Amino acid sequence: MKKLALITIILLLVQPEGHGWGFRAHQRINRIAVYTLPGEMFGFYKSHIDYLTEHAVDADKRRYGSKDEAARHYIDLDHFGVYPFEAVPRNWKKAVERLSEDTLQAYGIVPWQVERMYYQLVKAFKEKNTPAILRLSADIGHYIADAHVPLHTTENYNGQLTGQHGIHGLLESRLPELFDTEYDLVTGKAKPFDKPLDRIWTAVLSSAAAVDCVLYLERQTREAIPVDRHYVYEQKGSRTVKAYAVEYAGDYHKRLHGLIEIRMRDAIACVGAFWYTAWLDAGQPDLDQLEKTVLDETEKQKLAEEEKLYRKGVIQGREESY
Ligand SMILES: [Zn+2]
Repeated sequence: MKKLALITIILLLVQPEGHGWGFRAHQRINRIAVYTLPGEMFGFYKSHIDYLTEHAVDADKRRYGSKDEAARHYIDLDHFGVYPFEAVPRNWKKAVERLSEDTLQAYGIVPWQVERMYYQLVKAFKEKNTPAILRLSADIGHYIADAHVPLHTTENYNGQLTGQHGIHGLLESRLPELFDTEYDLVTGKAKPFDKPLDRIWTAVLSSAAAVDCVLYLERQTREAIPVDRHYVYEQKGSRTVKAYAVEYAGDYHKRLHGLIEIRMRDAIACVGAFWYTAWLDAGQPDLDQLEKTVLDETEKQKLAEEEKLYRKGVIQGREESY
């Protein structure tokens, strides 16, 4: 019995943490984005708000089963030069021609992932395919949210190049977990745009513009707080996890002057804008007439399989925790 308890504890200790925004932030972003939608879309999205919330993190779970998945969540722009990264063509075909597809897969493809999913979502709306609309809405929400995280646009994504190992989880999981109840995430109504690719590149570039700042400010916190007060061991449900101390996180959060709140709010506005524009692009189908079915059988099986791999915790590609 004792041995079993010990094994359980060890298993619980090694359970994977979230990647990209923490799971909670991803879920909040998709959930609040529903409230930005116009009346013709709101009823349908509101009736599926729990699905969109719960499945906001499917894309991260897929990273445990597929080696191609990781690259869809980021783009290491600084590998290609300095802001505004003119060496990287914004258009996929041109980027492949200039930099090669292998290189792009190695350094990340988030803007093009969002663009590709946008057209899939338009198609799903045209076909009035409820399971596809919901799956794609949840997934595109995830990738758009990732594109709003500054550390998803740099090679130094976990501070590993500047002695700041662990900053990834601190910035996008720990800080929102501790402080997001204070955030004002109301963004107003979703604003449609002309070109999906331009819209997502705007988001990616504003993330990239904040990279130096988030790294610099964390170095200040690192220097201001004695090293023995950087971490604590916390109980999370039945797990014990190493986490940045509240004092440390609070100091850093203060120095960031609302940056996380702004990035989350921008992410919410952007997710709403993508859902809304895709629906407009599809000719504004009447969503109230759509089937209420959420998932078909094959999709259910696929998700169960991904969940299993995720539980095993074998991540493919980039690892961003401590
Ligand atoms: Zn992600």
